[in-house]
Amino acid sequence: MSTGMPAILGGTPARTKPYPPVNTLGPEERRLVLDVLDSGVLSDFVAHDGPSFNGGRVVKQLEAEFCARFGVEHAISVNSATSGLHCALAAALVGLGDEVIIPPYTMSATATTVACLNATPVFADIDPKTFCLDVEDVKRKLTPRTKAIVAVNLFGGPAALHALRALADAKGLSLIEDNAQGPGAKAGVDWTGTVGHLGVFSLNFHKTIQCGEGGVVVTRDARLADRVRLMRNHGEVVQAQRPSIDPELEGLLGYNYRLTELQAAVALAQVRRLDELTENRIVMADALSKGLAGIDGLTPPYVAAGDKHVYYMYAFKIDEQKFGLSRAELKAALDAEGVFTSVGYVVPIYLYPMYRKSVAAKRRGFGAGIWHPSDASVSYEKGACPVTERMHEKELVLTNICRADLGHADAMEFVTAIRKVFEHRAAVRDKLRAHGGR
Ligand SMILES: *Cc1c(COP(=O)(O)O)cnc(C)c1O
Repeated sequence: MSTGMPAILGGTPARTKPYPPVNTLGPEERRLVLDVLDSGVLSDFVAHDGPSFNGGRVVKQLEAEFCARFGVEHAISVNSATSGLHCALAAALVGLGDEVIIPPYTMSATATTVACLNATPVFADIDPKTFCLDVEDVKRKLTPRTKAIVAVNLFGGPAALHALRALADAKGLSLIEDNAQGPGAKAGVDWTGTVGHLGVFSLNFHKTIQCGEGGVVVTRDARLADRVRLMRNHGEVVQAQRPSIDPELEGLLGYNYRLTELQAAVALAQVRRLDELTENRIVMADALSKGLAGIDGLTPPYVAAGDKHVYYMYAFKIDEQKFGLSRAELKAALDAEGVFTSVGYVVPIYLYPMYRKSVAAKRRGFGAGIWHPSDASVSYEKGACPVTERMHEKELVLTNICRADLGHADAMEFVTAIRKVFEHRAAVRDKLRAHGGR
């Protein structure tokens, strides 16, 4: 089967028009926002014990529908998933000198929220199939100081959540799910976000369901939920009004992590539309995986039998040797085809400057607990998580074209682009290498 000449060799590009900007907002969002505007109440939180401690009408409605949607007892909205992670870690009583095991292949906030509590992020490597925490490496990173594990359901696929929950329970630790990228995904029969003791969703503009900025923490545990609510809304004030204080919360200080009624209105419409906003992502991803199947050197995303992936990102792997082009050469050729890819995701986050020994030594203030130079379990050096580094440097290729508003034709263009480049890989390689590129 011939698919035509690659654009980088002078052929016609597989895609000739730019991708349209993402806009998932519709009439339901507009209607609910206008209702809030007409009511005149843009936020109904008050930092005092009483009916307004937990927010206004729409905030409460959003939380009720989140509970119903994901089958949990408690959902607490916050103004971002970053705030939500901070609250969840505090609810798990993470504090000075504690260690929290996290993957390094994630958005920065998974780690900084640990540092915010003067605790130490300890990085465990990832599984090269799922890109999520490798349970065996988590076990190797456990120490007597370990207090919690944060599993990230990366790119919309579930981490090994049940194995991690069993491990956490056996060791008396908390499992927190960073489910920012995974609303609607499943680990077996369970929604991601609900297997851990606490789960954190993002409603940031770039996520599958969004309200600009926002987040939701879910839990089945009333005590954990209470702590998250105290963190969200100046809990120290409310504690002063309560007849007694949970001894573990005596030092608790709260923040202003409250969601406005306007944002809650958008989020409410979006959570009602979660299936609609997710289904097509899966259809497109399945078409991509089918199209890439059988191309030597490319591995489509892995989904374990019985799990559900929601493809916040479509992440596949290249074996440069087998494919016959380097990852950078593939990307250059796909750029010429007009189809979107990016490579590597993020650097393993322990390589960010904030983790450098010299920085930590200078800045006593930032996270007194962040650096235990004598502690063998803590390494922020290159080489600390080799699988993550390999994915970042060599193997991972991403595309974000699995969207609610794109379709089969867009997926097929992508497949055609890759097939053309693969078929003509020798000529593509000669052309790119002749120009001194690699
Ligand atoms: C987006 C994201 C966050 C942060 O979400 P915000 O709502 O922007 O604070 C945290 N973790 C992961 C994995 C994310 O993708």
